[in-house]
Amino acid sequence: MKHSNIVGGSTAKRVINCPGSVALVQKMPKQPSSKYADEGTLLHNVISEILMSEETPESYLGTRYEDQTLTQELIDTKLKPALDALNIIDPNHKMQLEAETVVHFGDLLPDVFGSADVIARIGDRAIVLDWKFGSGVTIDAENNPQLMFYAAAAMRTKEAAWAFDGATEIELIIVQPPEIKRWVTTPERIAAFELELVHAVRAASKGNAPLATGDHCRWCAAKPICPKMTGAAERALKVAIDGLDAPQISAYLKNADMLEGWITDLRSLALQMLESGAKLPEYKLVAKRAIRSWTDDEKAKVALFAYGLTESEVMETSVVSPAKAEKVLKKRKLALPDDLVVAISSGNTLASANDPRPEVMLLGKQLTAALSKLQ
Ligand code: SF4
Repeated sequence: MKHSNIVGGSTAKRVINCPGSVALVQKMPKQPSSKYADEGTLLHNVISEILMSEETPESYLGTRYEDQTLTQELIDTKLKPALDALNIIDPNHKMQLEAETVVHFGDLLPDVFGSADVIARIGDRAIVLDWKFGSGVTIDAENNPQLMFYAAAAMRTKEAAWAFDGATEIELIIVQPPEIKRWVTTPERIAAFELELVHAVRAASKGNAPLATGDHCRWCAAKPICPKMTGAAERALKVAIDGLDAPQISAYLKNADMLEGWITDLRSLALQMLESGAKLPEYKLVAKRAIRSWTDDEKAKVALFAYGLTESEVMETSVVSPAKAEKVLKKRKLALPDDLVVAISSGNTLASANDPRPEVMLLGKQLTAALSKLQ
């Protein structure tokens, strides 16, 4: 799905609160997707197909998006409860709806658009509904900037405006199985939101647009390079603990989540840069600690029994790890059969340049691609 690089539904809250974030986020490399994001996209794709085709969820079993596959468990725990929610919202089956509609602001805000999960109409009420398939933080519908963004854009989009034509109220709904959050508002509230958005986008297009921290920073990709964040981090490092009183400590605690988020995102950006071949002064990529495993479980078992180890010393649910076997062998003054052990690192991690571990040699991307074809 294409996203506006100025502001879309999911970034509306950040841009309204922090117009300066637009320019900073545009400088950041594209963030890699995660299995949770891919699973969410898979479920969004399938539910929109179901709504428009009226096929059963089961007929989409096995549908794939990236590495994610639609399983019966996902159907039972996510798709069916989401579809059941529509029966609660529309018990008399009066709703007309359109799924996955691209909505935009036309000439008012060029290049600002988003994709609304469901635009619908029942009687005098227009409906904007968003599926949330993640099971982390629960999202509220009241004054939800993402839903107000879709409503405002839909009112200006030819393919979606039918749902708002003559509507006296607008209902914003979040379906996050098993929860449904609903909030009814007015066209005037949506117009007021649109005004806020227009001001923020215009401010963002000027140099030195204001930056402001808040809970909207949580999903901001620019955290690692944001002066508000780096300033907070530098100030935190300079604090003399002895001189702090209790209220000051509480005030710093409030910033802890923000700083932790900044640190996590900074580390993952640095790792992403090093893994793509960039150089960072004083940092390098090293292999994570290697964990030993048997090259051949059966041969290892035979060798350990030959050393006189008992069944319970050798076997867990599978053969014991080399580390455990080594401990037992040591007590018997016997060495681990090294030729049966291989140490494999589980990935790369960041380390300071004076770390004693050797630097990881990165295979060129072309060589990696060529090798992957040989597997
Ligand atoms: S981290 Fe927060 S303050 Fe910094 S650019 Fe992003 S939203 Fe704005």
